[in-house]
Amino acid sequence: MAVIIDGKNLAKKIRSNLKVECDKLKEKGIIPKLAVIMVGDNPASKVYVKNKSIACNEVGIEYKEYLLDANIKQENLLDLIKKLNNDETVNGILLQSPIPEHLNINEAFKAITYLKDVDGFTPSSVGKLCIGEDTFVSCTPLGVIKMFEEYNIDLNGKDVVILGRSNIVGRPLIQCCLQKNATVTVCHSKTKSLEEHTKRADVIISAIGKPKFVTADMVKNNVVIIDVGINRDENGKLVGDVDFENVEKKASYITPVPGGVGPMTIAMLMNNVIKATKEQYKEKLML
Ligand code: NDP
Repeated sequence: MAVIIDGKNLAKKIRSNLKVECDKLKEKGIIPKLAVIMVGDNPASKVYVKNKSIACNEVGIEYKEYLLDANIKQENLLDLIKKLNNDETVNGILLQSPIPEHLNINEAFKAITYLKDVDGFTPSSVGKLCIGEDTFVSCTPLGVIKMFEEYNIDLNGKDVVILGRSNIVGRPLIQCCLQKNATVTVCHSKTKSLEEHTKRADVIISAIGKPKFVTADMVKNNVVIIDVGINRDENGKLVGDVDFENVEKKASYITPVPGGVGPMTIAMLMNNVIKATKEQYKEKLML
């Protein structure tokens, strides 16, 4: 039987530590603030944004939402980002994805100033991550790394297989795991014989978005499983990418869905807002 990695509880502990840091900033007259931009009316995004606002409230971070019409022009979206870049009361800017297809999301991410890039999506953050400099790391990969650290799972020399190569999960995870001295393999939809890779993996991190894709016959005994996927099964139940019930019997550690990576992602957003605020007030805080 595997150890179940309790992301919910760990995230709660992190939020409570961040509240202490947030209170200290407030004692110095600094109130951390997150601005969230949402374009259009995506139901899933509404739930994610609501959870982020609840977490901000718990930690003591001020939260402001900007709801933009689905038909907004790119230039108007960029204008809002520029306004928030220049607003000294705003410490972090988050553009909730997805946004409507007529808009260029990469151009929008690029417009966010580095110091307020709490999602770690700007070219500066991504570039710094690639060369191993301290930076804003996107929240899901950062949450996964915190889980390894908290459960003393050492990646040094381990074969880590990442399923999925998206800009928000798979790609930053490559760098995060490399920094921990893992040997990293990345699989995607064009990978041949994916099972050959998963069967020899010491650690599998799955972020592909397919319910119960990773089955027990695809993994070796004592594998560590991190399930990033959030999917609905045929009965509408929330499930990950991993067939939890059967894979758990072979794994040494495994994350559940829900209650695994999801809460950690939001806790890491809070972490990044506090980090951004401290960075912006570095000189004042040194006094
Ligand atoms: P994307 O759709 O952007 O990327 C999916 C990746 O999976 C792509 O790289 C794709 O390959 C690969 N893929 C798809 N099908 C297969 C297959 N059959 N075999 C191998 N690889 C495949 O998804 P995201 O990265 O945004 O999200 C992935 C999952 O994680 C989703 O379920 C999402 O809801 C969840 N998620 C959860 C978060 C959390 O906080 N827990 C945060 C973010 C996402 P290719 O590049 O070739 O198309």
